[in-house]
Amino acid sequence: MPKKGLLERLAERPVVGDGSQCMTLEKRGYCRAGPWTPEAVLLYPDAVRQLLREYLRAGADVIQTPCFYSSDGKLERTNASSFTAEAINEAACKMAREVANEGDAIVCGSLSPVQAYVNSEGTEATRKEFERQLDVFLKYDVDFMLAEFFGHVEEIELCIDVMKTAKKPIAATLRIGPLGDKNGVSVEECAIRMAKAGADLVGINCLYDFDTCLKTLKRMKTALDKEGLKPYLMCQPLGWRCPEVENEFDGYLTLPEAPLCLEPRTATRVEVHKFARAAYELGTRYIGGCCGMEPHHIRAIAQELAPERKKNPPVNDMCPPLGEMLNLSAFSQIQEKSSKDYWYSVVPGSGRPFNPALSKPVSN
Ligand SMILES: [Zn+2]
Repeated sequence: MPKKGLLERLAERPVVGDGSQCMTLEKRGYCRAGPWTPEAVLLYPDAVRQLLREYLRAGADVIQTPCFYSSDGKLERTNASSFTAEAINEAACKMAREVANEGDAIVCGSLSPVQAYVNSEGTEATRKEFERQLDVFLKYDVDFMLAEFFGHVEEIELCIDVMKTAKKPIAATLRIGPLGDKNGVSVEECAIRMAKAGADLVGINCLYDFDTCLKTLKRMKTALDKEGLKPYLMCQPLGWRCPEVENEFDGYLTLPEAPLCLEPRTATRVEVHKFARAAYELGTRYIGGCCGMEPHHIRAIAQELAPERKKNPPVNDMCPPLGEMLNLSAFSQIQEKSSKDYWYSVVPGSGRPFNPALSKPVSN
């Protein structure tokens, strides 16, 4: 039986996305911090395949092709790889399909901001760079298209327009917070413009944490409802806590700790449970993760939304819902923690007695 497409799934129940790719591969030793280009798909295919499998097992309905930042412009600018974007993207498409077919997942081809727009080379040059990214996704027949991590609604509108030629569902997420886009377009107008440009899903990804994303999503939802627009709402937030960057255009990138000392800010799985519930309740129907969202975070989304999705993630065979098997521990103090209520009441310590809770963001 053919798999259901993205829009069919969304019409029935919430969809769980996958999580961080380059940032997680860097921690594991398979991506260069700085360029963040994904040549690992050719250099270390087993490592990338394993990460994608972990997302599938965690309950992701979607496997994104592991080729973020793989456009010729980006590869040339960072001069970090001897591979062409085409070679990386082809390998990424094949691998994503192979892993998705190990379960019931579908494949998403993602387009990201291009150098031609940054360099103000004009509409035609920008469209051409998107078209080159799109070609390989068409060749390998991905199930839907995603434009993600855009800082300007003007650029994502162009990208959406190019993606329409693929005649597949289109998702569009900006990397914006409450300030809106980098040209001063408000959150509300950004959401409306993405929907009117033809995106079936609109929302946000990266740069901000759960609480900031929830505020932005709420404003998007209100604005879309007011206009009578009905795209699905989507969110792929950071896996770190960073409330102090809410009013910084570059979000977590303005933290002194970014990108190499962010570990103390890692969200707990309980925080992900709470976020997934809150995001769903305000109307978000596609919930995944961006930088810092690891497989166990995606598992928390899938386990939290299991009642609405009417299915448990495959990982439940080894990792049942929050605390369920802790009563089997050999230690009595752990046995007593075998309930969701206990875990929802924990206030985690950082283990660093002299550290502040927040840092001072460094803006450009
Ligand atoms: Zn990200």
